[in-house]
Amino acid sequence: QARKPNATPAAPEKRAARHVIAVAAGKGGVGKSTVAANLAVALTRQGRSVGILDADIYGPSIPRLFGLSDAQGLKKTDSGITPLSAHGVKIVSMGLLTKPGAPVVWRGPMVQGAIQQFLRDTDWGDLDVLIIDMPPGTGDAQLAIAQTAAIDGAVIACTPQDLALDDARKAMAMFQQTHTPLLGLIENMSVFLCPHCGEPSEIFGHGGARDEAEALGLPFLGEIPLHIDLRKRSDEGRPVALDDGPVSAAFARAADAVLA
Ligand code: ADP
Repeated sequence: QARKPNATPAAPEKRAARHVIAVAAGKGGVGKSTVAANLAVALTRQGRSVGILDADIYGPSIPRLFGLSDAQGLKKTDSGITPLSAHGVKIVSMGLLTKPGAPVVWRGPMVQGAIQQFLRDTDWGDLDVLIIDMPPGTGDAQLAIAQTAAIDGAVIACTPQDLALDDARKAMAMFQQTHTPLLGLIENMSVFLCPHCGEPSEIFGHGGARDEAEALGLPFLGEIPLHIDLRKRSDEGRPVALDDGPVSAAFARAADAVLA
């Protein structure tokens, strides 16, 4: 049978990793990137090879979380885009292509183009787990990732607040529409642990994500406390999950639950 001019046979889809996991929130500022970064580190400490694709083109946080905020070293060669490595995790992010502090002022189709290039052209090597740090919201870019990235499952990060839960529900609905399995919910900023006396305070409430997971019949992946070390270590580019401690242990348990 004659082929149409310009028609190319469909290439078999190349999987980026044995497990491709999206971390999404719906709402910004709930700690989605912090959760993605620390899950990646926790999985690395368990002996897995891990990569993060930072799909937040307008507000990439992953380079800072890994101490790469001044790095611009992403290279494209014949074999594809070569990720940078930090703390044992391979990283691809728009923040590694732009000058520090420079905004990306792009229309939607260009953003989607960049994400597709990251998805298609990155030379990850042999990865056990690829974590996709999803951009906030449920628009074109998010839909395109959900439809084309061969995601095995999505982890939803939220705070116990009703407002964040409302947006988490929207993110979950989007994944359901694209037939992406939901791996469960993780509650961030669950309780505030006072760095002085260790007393817990429920600033954003507590248990909202657990109740939501139960109501939806989804696994509850754990609670991450609101803790000053988490914020400080994130700003320093040394995720708290690198060292032993109660917050690190919470991420290790969540990492186990994600791959269970
Ligand atoms: P998102 O990706 O949802 O926009 P980030 O991961 O960038 O959110 O987190 C927003 C801010 O909150 C950052 O300054 C981060 O260090 C801080 N943060 C996130 N989770 C916690 C936590 N559990 N305890 C303390 N600070 C946190």
